[in-house]
Amino acid sequence: MNMKKYDVIIIGAGPAGIVTGVTVKKYFSNKKVLILTEEKKGLVPCGIPYIFNKLNTVDSDSMGPKGFVDLGGEVIIDPVVDVNLTKKQLKGESGDIYTYEKLVFATGSQPVEASFIKGYDLENVFYIKKSYQYISNLFNKLKDKKQIVIVGGGFIGAEVAEQLAARKGIKVTLIESEAQCFSKAFSRELSKIATDELRKTNVNVYTSSLVEEIIGSDGKVQKVRLKGGEEIEADAIILSVGYKPNTALAVAANLPLNKMGAIKVDSYERTSVKDVCAVGDCSQTFGFLTGRSDHIMLASTGAAEARVLGYNLFGIRIKKIFKGTIAVFSTQINGLTMASAGINENTGTEANVEFMSAEFTDVDKHPATMPGTAPLTARLFFSPSDGSILGAEVWGGPSAAEIINTLSLAIQKYITVYELISYQIGTHPLLTSAPTKPIIIKAAEAAIAKMKN
Ligand SMILES: Cc1cc2nc3c(=O)[nH]c(=O)nc-3n(C[C@H](O)[C@H](O)[C@H](O)COP(=O)(O)OP(=O)(O)OC[C@H]3O[C@@H](n4cnc5c(N)ncnc54)[C@H](O)[C@@H]3O)c2cc1C
Repeated sequence: MNMKKYDVIIIGAGPAGIVTGVTVKKYFSNKKVLILTEEKKGLVPCGIPYIFNKLNTVDSDSMGPKGFVDLGGEVIIDPVVDVNLTKKQLKGESGDIYTYEKLVFATGSQPVEASFIKGYDLENVFYIKKSYQYISNLFNKLKDKKQIVIVGGGFIGAEVAEQLAARKGIKVTLIESEAQCFSKAFSRELSKIATDELRKTNVNVYTSSLVEEIIGSDGKVQKVRLKGGEEIEADAIILSVGYKPNTALAVAANLPLNKMGAIKVDSYERTSVKDVCAVGDCSQTFGFLTGRSDHIMLASTGAAEARVLGYNLFGIRIKKIFKGTIAVFSTQINGLTMASAGINENTGTEANVEFMSAEFTDVDKHPATMPGTAPLTARLFFSPSDGSILGAEVWGGPSAAEIINTLSLAIQKYITVYELISYQIGTHPLLTSAPTKPIIIKAAEAAIAKMKN
């Protein structure tokens, strides 16, 4: 048994752990910082769906802590099995003991095990785990599978379905219990657009459908039975019914969780125990607009939390706390880019936020005859009281993904639709909408017209 001493120990080398490590090493270069991790190789989690077709190898989606190591950080592959907050000590699977001044939980999240579906434990039932070893095994196992059923039409299930369905000679069925796929991320209308787009691919999409049982033969998956009796043949099933914070270690160490099972933290990502912090999917996330604890697990959110923590780990240096997640999603299905930020009519109504909406549709280049031009729609959700932007959806050409990032900044800075009128933009025929009708500004004009009425 070895005993090793560090200023900072981060448990987990996902996006939140790595960004915390890089930020700490950049601003406190003399601190001895260690990341303890479970696996030698890591994956870009958001790239996992594309392993199954577009990238077509597991290694082309690999991600590692090189940036952190280049700054002098240390990485040890030794899964943490015990945390002693009183002694400020961790124990690794190897038996080694690590002591810390500051501890950061970045243990991420895991797929929800669908034990509520009979037959969930049969052979050839899989999950989309953020693990290099697991995904390598899944990639190999799926090579000879011809009938794949994916349960769950959130953005992960839908992206994986789209990619698998692009393979030759394969039948992919996606089963979603809600009326549309993507309904947790998008408004009703955009969820329908996204689901229709998925239907235009080779994916056989069932909505408003519940899987009642996975039926096997010789212990292996054979088919699924839906509520209502319909049966769908399958030689592999991927269950994509959600993710839950990975908090077993934190619970064993008596760190308090919130009602969603995430480690409770304040706006600087500090837990209630001195010198112990948590970031990313394992930690509590507040909604930017709702102010309440919202269950949003995104790499972009985790990285933002990690930067706030990294800057402020040894004292509050930047008094701009993480003000909560705006939940910025983007995806592309069948070539259509779709993106959202902040509230939409579902989440706004559920959180009792007063809002109106307005939109504008045009094209993403000019003149519209320019080759490669795609339609582009921006919808703003705004406050009827003061015109501040509360949410947005943009869909169409690929620029939708960066336009939503601009609108996320507008939400974060409490920009109003009136201010957008004088928003200064750059335009180019090959790259943007026309200067006479920039998509965001025209949507803001539509919003002002609605408010006047
Ligand atoms: C298929 C897929 C697609 C996605 N696409 C997007 C997207 O497009 N955009 C987006 O913003 N988000 C996306 N997400 C969500 C995003 O991946 C997560 O929000 C992100 O991975 C969270 O990062 P994290 O570092 O908090 O946790 P994780 O990525 O879960 O990493 C946690 C790490 O901790 C390690 N660990 C756990 N326990 C221990 C232990 N005891 N000892 C040592 N190490 C431990 C794990 O091995 C893991 O490496 C996607 C997720 C999936 C699954």
